[in-house]
Amino acid sequence: MKLEQLDLFADGGRRMQMTESIELTVQSLQAYGSSHPHWAIAWSGGKDSSATLSLIVYLLDVGRIPRPQSLTVFYADTRQELLPLSIAAYQIMDDLAERGIAVEIVMAPLDKRFMVYILGRGVPPPNNNTLRWCTRQIKIDPMQEALSHRLAQLDGNVLMITGVRQGESAIRDRRIEMSCGKDGAECGQGWYQQVLPEAKGLRGRIATLAPLLHWRVCHVWEWLKHWAPQAEFGDWSTVGIADAYGGDEAEEINARTGCTGCSLTDKDMALDNLLAQSQWAYLAPLKQIRPLWRELREPQHRLRKPGLERLKNGTIAKNPQRMGPLTFEARLMALDRILAIQCACNAAALSQGRPVIDLINAEEEARIRELVAAGTWPDGWEGDEPLATILLDVVYQNGAVQPLLFGAEA
Ligand code: SF4
Repeated sequence: MKLEQLDLFADGGRRMQMTESIELTVQSLQAYGSSHPHWAIAWSGGKDSSATLSLIVYLLDVGRIPRPQSLTVFYADTRQELLPLSIAAYQIMDDLAERGIAVEIVMAPLDKRFMVYILGRGVPPPNNNTLRWCTRQIKIDPMQEALSHRLAQLDGNVLMITGVRQGESAIRDRRIEMSCGKDGAECGQGWYQQVLPEAKGLRGRIATLAPLLHWRVCHVWEWLKHWAPQAEFGDWSTVGIADAYGGDEAEEINARTGCTGCSLTDKDMALDNLLAQSQWAYLAPLKQIRPLWRELREPQHRLRKPGLERLKNGTIAKNPQRMGPLTFEARLMALDRILAIQCACNAAALSQGRPVIDLINAEEEARIRELVAAGTWPDGWEGDEPLATILLDVVYQNGAVQPLLFGAEA
């Protein structure tokens, strides 16, 4: 009897907390929504922004929040999403289409996409120290571009709604972070909140609102797995999102998701969690992507500036003899390896009747080969710089040179 009472209490308590969380969300939208004629939702397909999107559309459907003059949903497709997240996103787009809500798919231009930028242009894979170009290039810049374009078609201000979520303690401390690693957050989400409104052309016309800012992660899962799929809350295809975060264990694992094989995380947690589920185990070859990105950062695959480098503004660069772009051989080697990984996954997918992956499509492969054939180097590089393994006299930033003791090559 005692146990039963406790269970009832736990269940009722969770429901009450959910209702309170949703109520606060409603209040924030009532307070800020009505002063903005147009709303836009930045949706990454991850758990937080998918919860935000499905909840807002449900609240609009049942008349709990004021309807804006226009609602535009921007789906940020990086071409690097984990497969179950990408599948779930396209199912949710069908759910939205049934309601007459169009989704604009936001993608970086061909030459700036992750694979083309690395393998075609030769820019080394991102890392945490000197070269983190990816978040801005494949997520933020395309979103700014799409939003600027939309703003040009509209009169009045736009409320950009994001899935940024910080939980209760952060709200108490009045902290909103740029970090993507907190509490299972998704890569880039803080950037939408803080960087997007400041962009040229958007300043002054766009405000951002994170109506789930106060939600705890357990509420997000409760909504996606148990509430949103019910007809009374909108019949959303949100259950599949949990797969990318660890299936039934998703809530406990509280993983962060990002690009397949993201080279900036310590561990490939999201992919490991996915492969641990039998229905996704056929994607195991994807585990080879992260080591490949690491390998490409090694000197044998890259060029190096031989000495001091004068920048466009006339000043001397801070890091003489820095390592730079990937050689053509390295790019083509990596292209072959990625295509082989894709081929192995898809052969297994076809034999098991499972969904196929699309790491590099025909257009991207053709463009990569075209850029390599055209001898393309990133800005500031000519391609005549020495290979980074060649030993050179050491040049310091003040111009001093320390000659090699033994004039040998590595
Ligand atoms: S998930 Fe990793 S690779 Fe992808 S944009 Fe974020 S930091 Fe870059």
